[in-house]
Amino acid sequence: MRAFSFQTDKGQAQIGVEYQDGLYNFSAAWELYKQLKNNGRGPELNFLQIMVEADFFHAETFQEVLFDLKEIRPIDDLKLGKDIQFLPPINRPQKILCVGRNYRAHAEELGNETPKAPVFFCKPPSALIGHQGKIRLPKGVGEVHHEGELAVIISKTTKQVSKKQAFDHIAGFTLVNDVTARALQKQDQGAGLPWFRSKGFDTFCPVGPFLVPRAAILDHRSLELQVSVNGEVRQEASTAQMIFDLDELVSHLSGYCTLEPGDIIATGTPAGVGKLSSGDEVQVTIKEIGTLVNTVE
Ligand code: ZN
Repeated sequence: MRAFSFQTDKGQAQIGVEYQDGLYNFSAAWELYKQLKNNGRGPELNFLQIMVEADFFHAETFQEVLFDLKEIRPIDDLKLGKDIQFLPPINRPQKILCVGRNYRAHAEELGNETPKAPVFFCKPPSALIGHQGKIRLPKGVGEVHHEGELAVIISKTTKQVSKKQAFDHIAGFTLVNDVTARALQKQDQGAGLPWFRSKGFDTFCPVGPFLVPRAAILDHRSLELQVSVNGEVRQEASTAQMIFDLDELVSHLSGYCTLEPGDIIATGTPAGVGKLSSGDEVQVTIKEIGTLVNTVE
């Protein structure tokens, strides 16, 4: 079960979901369901983030609504065509937190030591773009790299949780490309400056296309992540190779700052990062989650 946010021809944000044989407009299904079952009561669901914040983002919610609706009326008219304009599944996170050097071979390829504790940094929400959105290369900053990553979305207010509790605070999984102006990062790093500007340009955080509820991923510790550019595989690893696993990352982060529903945590990239050039198409894939595709302008 996978859900997504998309934009209609009229520019309206809606929620879509994969159900049985295809993709359906869940926002429209929900409005019909409310009329038929609840006398119209219930929130308007036009962004996935609303479902996450209301603790409503569960596979059962989608299944129950569509199943019950189908018992009452046909749902063929809610089926979506192939031409979907995807939006980032989370449209206005309070924070996008990222983890650096979380795969040993990647730390080594950039000449860094394996960290003893997780290395965190932020990307601004203004960097977000969706599936099939265009990555824009800023002028005069030198080489820009792709970094495909597994990302999680926080489900509820999370403060100082233990590793054991951490997984209960995750709403679901998605994919992120932590696009990085590598030359600028090295320059700033050398001068003892933070990574923020090399990581924070507009369009430097493609995310999506799907958000998969936590319960739908059987084992997040053995997901195969692959990144390809123009069809050539550049990065390939299992999430089993992370130095600090998800539970540890969420627990650690929640010790520094309060995590809020909808916050995005990108869990680090494996070895094989490389240059993006104008005209490239970059794909980030985890089979159980989907493929995030973006072109470079
Ligand atoms: Zn990264």
